[in-house]
Amino acid sequence: MTRLQVTVLGATGSIGLSTLDVVSRHADRYSLFAVTAFSRMTELEALCLTHRPQFAVVADEAQAGALQVRLAEAGLATRVLFGDGGLCEVAAHPEVDVVMAAIVGAAGLRPTLSAVQAGKRVLLANKEALVMSGALFMQALEQSSAVLLPIDSEHNAIFQCLPSDYARGMAEVGVRRILLTASGGPFRQTPLAELAQVTPEQACAHPNWSMGRKISVDSASMMNKGLELIEACWLFGARPEQVEVVVHPQSVIHSMVDYVDGSVLAQLGNPDMRTPIAHALAWPERIDSGVSALDLLRIGQLDFQAPDEERFPCLRLARQAAQVGGTAPAMLNAANEVAVEAFLQRRIRFTEIASIIADVLEREAARTAGCLEDVLMADQQARRLAGEWLGRHGR
Ligand code: NAD
Ligand code: MG
Repeated sequence: MTRLQVTVLGATGSIGLSTLDVVSRHADRYSLFAVTAFSRMTELEALCLTHRPQFAVVADEAQAGALQVRLAEAGLATRVLFGDGGLCEVAAHPEVDVVMAAIVGAAGLRPTLSAVQAGKRVLLANKEALVMSGALFMQALEQSSAVLLPIDSEHNAIFQCLPSDYARGMAEVGVRRILLTASGGPFRQTPLAELAQVTPEQACAHPNWSMGRKISVDSASMMNKGLELIEACWLFGARPEQVEVVVHPQSVIHSMVDYVDGSVLAQLGNPDMRTPIAHALAWPERIDSGVSALDLLRIGQLDFQAPDEERFPCLRLARQAAQVGGTAPAMLNAANEVAVEAFLQRRIRFTEIASIIADVLEREAARTAGCLEDVLMADQQARRLAGEWLGRHGR
């Protein structure tokens, strides 16, 4: 069997490392073509020594030069590229078959779109890219031979529970609703009055999943679920009101599809991202992911609750942005990225993340997102407005 060539964008991250773990379990099927990272050069160098990719991509020219020298000294032929140009090159390279899009945030948009336009099998973890540019992204997908497979555990679950012809439309394939499950994060039961005092360390201590810091804060504020709601609308052709968020603290059911005949299909598994990664790598086949078998008897009980929007105003803001459409989701995403970074730097309180986003969305009306420039301009404008908020109120 010829081995598929895999590019991992964001290889040093939580999803990137899980992807390398699954890929290296199947050396007969996959070969690592390129790895990329923005920081943590020592980790990237170690990944190159282990996996011997053809390319590595870093943030800037100075980093690239230094890494190139070290890899050459170690006897590796890996070529080091840098910047957006380097990322897009390894995402769209003619020799590449599969691209794992696991850069965090808006920075992943261009390389992910490049992979789509080049007709790759695109494994989408970088939900922010789709949230920002949903219509354009789906249009690019239609115009290319790319295959998009969702890595977000919820969307991967929904994909597994939908019929193969779901692109005909939700009503046409008999789907009534999508039930998007959420763990509720570390602050599900924290007294409301204490939320203003929580620290970045507490926010990043997720009860069920081990993830990067940005998505961990998003999970704590439930903005992650808001972004996922928008992601589900684009991936599966659903309207926002057809996606219902269900809090399920055990994170065993990864999401469900409710059909008109009353059947509800669910995908279950241990909370380990290697399951959706292995699913998307091998689809429509199944391969070992290294994840242990689900022990329902040990888990014993599965609970469900309605989300509390007073506690989690970010969820309401995201649903509103989904309904407004145009550049609103891109602005929501950009304001959130600035706010989360400020919270991680202890410049604002946890509860001010939602205040910043609400302020940005109030001050700047959404426009139509007709081309990528519209989206990038909205992103920049929202970052500027969020920066102004920080100038007025931040520490
Ligand atoms: P992470 O912070 O652990 O890793 C991010 C990766 O992106 C790193 O390799 C980093 O070097 C790279 N990166 C960061 N900023 C960059 C920039 N400006 N330019 C180029 N590269 C940059 O994040 P993660 O938890 O692995 O999440 C990655 C993506 O996957 C996010 O979009 C997240 O929402 C999504 N996702 C993650 C999980 C999870 O379990 N971790 C689950 C579902 C979805
Ligand atoms: Mg998810």
